[in-house]
Amino acid sequence: MSEMDYYEILEVSRDCSGAELKKAYRKLALKYHPDRNPDDKEAEEKFKLINEAYQILSDEEKRAIYDRYGKEGLQGQGAGGGFGGANMDDIMDIFNSMFGGGGGFGGFGQSRRDPGQKYALDFEMELTLQFNEAVFGCEKTVDIRYKTYCRDCQGTGAKNGKMTTCDYCGGQGQIVMRQGFMTFAQECPKCHGMGKKIEQKCPTCHGKGYAVKEESVTVKIPAGVDSGNRLRVPGHGNESKEGRRGDLYLTFYVEEDEHFVRNGNDIYIEVPVFFTQAILGETISIPALKGELELNLKQGTKDKEQFVFEGEGVPDVHSGRKGRLIAQIKLVLPKKFNDEQKALLEKLQESYGVESHPHKSTFESAFERIKGWFKS
Ligand SMILES: [Zn+2]
Ligand SMILES: [Zn+2]
Repeated sequence: MSEMDYYEILEVSRDCSGAELKKAYRKLALKYHPDRNPDDKEAEEKFKLINEAYQILSDEEKRAIYDRYGKEGLQGQGAGGGFGGANMDDIMDIFNSMFGGGGGFGGFGQSRRDPGQKYALDFEMELTLQFNEAVFGCEKTVDIRYKTYCRDCQGTGAKNGKMTTCDYCGGQGQIVMRQGFMTFAQECPKCHGMGKKIEQKCPTCHGKGYAVKEESVTVKIPAGVDSGNRLRVPGHGNESKEGRRGDLYLTFYVEEDEHFVRNGNDIYIEVPVFFTQAILGETISIPALKGELELNLKQGTKDKEQFVFEGEGVPDVHSGRKGRLIAQIKLVLPKKFNDEQKALLEKLQESYGVESHPHKSTFESAFERIKGWFKS
């Protein structure tokens, strides 16, 4: 075990605040996490130390002991690796925000569950939006089904609320699990942390402890949301025994448009242009998010050429700053032509003389050179 000072390990000063400590831990844990440093023994060692240091320093009592007596003072206090104690929630919060979905609206709310709470108060739902609804924002009425505690058993799931001690955890409500070098105190899977078990199921909820209610929620969806973004709708999650509602999280799935292709806040549109238009140049109208835009095809516009319109894209969901509209040319050649058109094309070609056969002048020297290779 290293003798390094916990403050040094976390790269903070001895008088740093709890927030500074958390920030430092977060940064370092992210950097040295085994998932990001596979097969790196040094990173693993460092990660262990960071966790050890944070576990102690984030606990005011342990920190005070450590400040006065050093590591020795903490013996028997659970120092030396492993999670547990008062900071479990804290650490799990950090881990969830690091490796969880990471939507555009902040991490998924990890509601603190009290052991008597049989279901999470927050829940998530997918909401499909049409392209224009996501781009311009909209108001949606969403039908949800949320959980509320069963009144007949007070949410216990037991007939008349009568429970006996859980034999799996001996009434502790949790069991200790080891996963590699980390120790997790895990909720007892049998009694879900209650320490008690059901002798006879509640006939109303069949032991589930909750009932399901329906609700229509009108949600204002900001302009610019995209697939995978998550919006928190406070107070529309499941209901606790105390009558507190958790939060509803809406994760968006945005449907594709027929013409516009979205890439972040930019919009792409393919503009078919006939070869004569491309050669001669022409001003044409193209569809844009807010109606029409004029596109000046210059003489000799090329296939796949892009014309960029700043500020004609999708507003950023946070800043409102608009992205770009990018019109990409798709050159269209005639599939067939009649005799008259053929004659015109031939005449046009003739009029260009040598220029109409660029391969000849380009390859002339190549032909000579290749011939030279085979001269004896
Ligand atoms: Zn148990
Ligand atoms: Zn019940």
